[in-house]
Amino acid sequence: MKSPRVGFVSLGCPKALVDSERILTQLRAEGYVISDNYSDASIVVVNTCGFIQAAVEESLEAITEALDENGRVIVTGCLGTRNQEMLRRFPELVAVTGPDSAESVMEAVRAELPPGHSPFHDLLPPGGIKLTPRHYAYLKIAEGCNNSCTFCVIPGMRGRLVSRSIHDIIDEASALVDAGVKELLVVSQDTAAYGADVKYRTELTRGRPMRSHINDLTRVLGELGIWVRLHYVYPYPHIDELIPLMSEGFVVPYLDVPFQHCVPRVLKRMKRPANAENNLARIRMWRSICPELTIRSTFIVGFPGETEDEFKLLLDFLTEAQLDRVGCFAYSPIQGAAANELDNPVPEEVREERLARFMAVQEEVSAQRLRRRIGQTCAVLVDAHTESGVLARSTGESPEIDGVVIVHDGVDIEPGQFVDVRITGSDNHDLYAQKV
Ligand code: SF4
Repeated sequence: MKSPRVGFVSLGCPKALVDSERILTQLRAEGYVISDNYSDASIVVVNTCGFIQAAVEESLEAITEALDENGRVIVTGCLGTRNQEMLRRFPELVAVTGPDSAESVMEAVRAELPPGHSPFHDLLPPGGIKLTPRHYAYLKIAEGCNNSCTFCVIPGMRGRLVSRSIHDIIDEASALVDAGVKELLVVSQDTAAYGADVKYRTELTRGRPMRSHINDLTRVLGELGIWVRLHYVYPYPHIDELIPLMSEGFVVPYLDVPFQHCVPRVLKRMKRPANAENNLARIRMWRSICPELTIRSTFIVGFPGETEDEFKLLLDFLTEAQLDRVGCFAYSPIQGAAANELDNPVPEEVREERLARFMAVQEEVSAQRLRRRIGQTCAVLVDAHTESGVLARSTGESPEIDGVVIVHDGVDIEPGQFVDVRITGSDNHDLYAQKV
């Protein structure tokens, strides 16, 4: 019997990617074949993103395209929470389900397209289906968020924080390592809050009691002997304890800590968690404990009410903090966000102008941080061979969001292998290196 074929479009952040992987794994386990084009598929699943307005628009375009090209479409992910609106807009949709609802997607697929039973297709790779290259994988430790940042609609879409059992996370991590993964990227909406919903309960894991707490989880993941990288770590006081784990080599010395701003009044209007911390002093302290630490962050400029003076304080913060990798958005109102109701919105041209000034300052800082690495030796993990050279990353670069290390003489190093290199040059984003 010919196996039923499902097309799949995955949009959005690494957390959404993990949801896609979960659905794809289940589809394969039930005998569906994943089709790489619309015409060949009997039905198409579109996993959407609704984080910022641009992502919403990209998702709507993807749904339109799937409907035009195939006609039988299931929408899931962030936009799936706007169930009624989606069905009004696209009445021909087969089903609409919310984020983190792999089972609802499966029910909709099964109802439309009964599963095939092929023993061949039941053979899944040990770590499940991965959308990332074989040598790295995202590890999602929790779903949802207990915060209510005024610019964000994620808690309304994904619900309150639900932490996975530490036992399950470690089992999944071990299976991924067995499947050949060399780097795990720990993700969730609020990684440092892991376990808060279950009061950091202790579970017996691998014969020893372990708290469901980010510090304990980080330590045990660090014992797996691969690179472990932490993303979306808000600057709560307890994350200071993660820095010694980085200097001791348990996890890579890399902290993705989305500050969003530095001025307490703006952070309060954003309702950011940990908005009263003295982050400059903490950055200095982190670097004194772990000098090789790479700090990545994201910011929003032109948030409603942000004055020119407050924006200038943010530029001063950038110069002082010397962050290594930075992303920045000009504030954009998103449907349903509380910030839309705040007074003193910043005109769009001022938001864009602030974004350009912000990027000019940070680009200089990033370029200088990269220049400091010239002459150093370090291990890199090779990602791919491309026309521009062999692309690799050191502990200082996360895939997709940071720059890369281009190894001139690395053609004999296969993707997924580590190699020691000497950094020979840099530009604003990337490093250049030779094998040692
Ligand atoms: S911490 Fe804030 S920005 Fe992040 S998901 Fe939660 S509400 Fe949104």
